[in-house]
Amino acid sequence: MIYLDNAATTRTAPEVVEAMLPFFTEQYGNPSAIYSLGSAAGKAVNQAKRTIAGAIGAKQEEIYFTAGGTESDNWALKAAAEACEEKGKHIITTKIEHHAILHTCEYLEGKGFEITYLDVDQDGLVDPAVLEAAIRPDTILISVMFANNEVGTMEPVQEIGAIARARGVLFHTDAVQAFGQVPVNVQEMKIDMLSASGHKMNGPKGVGFLYIRSGLKMTSFIHGGAQERNRRAGTENVPGIVGLEAAVVRALARMEEKAAKEIRLRDYLIDRIEKEIPYCRLNGHRTRRLPGNVNFSFRFVEGESILIMLDMKGICGSSGSACTSGSLDPSHVLLAMGLKHEEARGSLRLTLSGENTREELDLVVEELKRIVGRLREMSPLYEDFIRREGSKR
Ligand code: PLP
Repeated sequence: MIYLDNAATTRTAPEVVEAMLPFFTEQYGNPSAIYSLGSAAGKAVNQAKRTIAGAIGAKQEEIYFTAGGTESDNWALKAAAEACEEKGKHIITTKIEHHAILHTCEYLEGKGFEITYLDVDQDGLVDPAVLEAAIRPDTILISVMFANNEVGTMEPVQEIGAIARARGVLFHTDAVQAFGQVPVNVQEMKIDMLSASGHKMNGPKGVGFLYIRSGLKMTSFIHGGAQERNRRAGTENVPGIVGLEAAVVRALARMEEKAAKEIRLRDYLIDRIEKEIPYCRLNGHRTRRLPGNVNFSFRFVEGESILIMLDMKGICGSSGSACTSGSLDPSHVLLAMGLKHEEARGSLRLTLSGENTREELDLVVEELKRIVGRLREMSPLYEDFIRREGSKR
């Protein structure tokens, strides 16, 4: 198998599993209990908070564990909206956010909030000047993703943070795809809330965190016990939290080397596809993109068909975000970047890990050439196109 869907999820690293195991079998105490078995678990949770806070330039008490990126996004938006609604009911986001943000915004619209969905350019970039112009006296929150999950484009987060802070508006960023891959610092980037998830960086699934800058008025998201300083009730997922910490330590230790390797492989794959497969288009910014992201549209073919044929060869990719694959709707991200429906439908996302090799990519390119060629042979649109091209000569 050649696994090229690391933006959907990653393999849990062996050292992460190893770190988690004792918290199932021996140190299984409830962190809220006062006996030592419980307090040992509590200490592990606090240690994980310290480690993660250190990784993003935050303080221990600013980290709240959640059940992953989706919960962190929901919490950030709903709680900020509720806490600030006396000031205003206007929120700014972008057209290319993950559905965890977009569907939460739709929910808030139903509650009387007004949302501005910013356009992006052909590379998926938000223009900070356009964002600034969209701020109104009743704007309470800006939510712009750190890096896009489909095309890998990295947004100008630092500039947006500076604008938001200067204008007194809260700034949330969904860093689910970026954290663990590229440096993130909430102080330098003036980020008030940040969402992240374990399973995108070789950690366990179903665990993540929300950073909430201290001093922010934020309502509690899940009601119940007094865990997480009364802000997120429920017995902590101790093995998951310990696993998340181990994944963060691992990711930070190898970030530079891994990114450099992925960029080399990514650019090699992009070059070969562009040179060897006609009528394709690279989606996303060429350089301001996540180290491991490759996303192409192939004209006259369906991304889903490419995926199925790649799968028959043991190659895993994606034709959009994991959450939307299975539906045949073209990607909202690609449409927002100005692609036509048929171009958006012909998209393929291949996302690398530090473990992929050039030999694997050579195999993938050979398969891809064959698959795209075969699908085009079956396409009446392609036949028409070739005939018209021929008659022009
Ligand atoms: N936000 C982004 C940008 C993502 O890519 C994802 C997952 O694909 C999520 C949020 C949701 O994260 P989780 O799967 O941890 O709920």
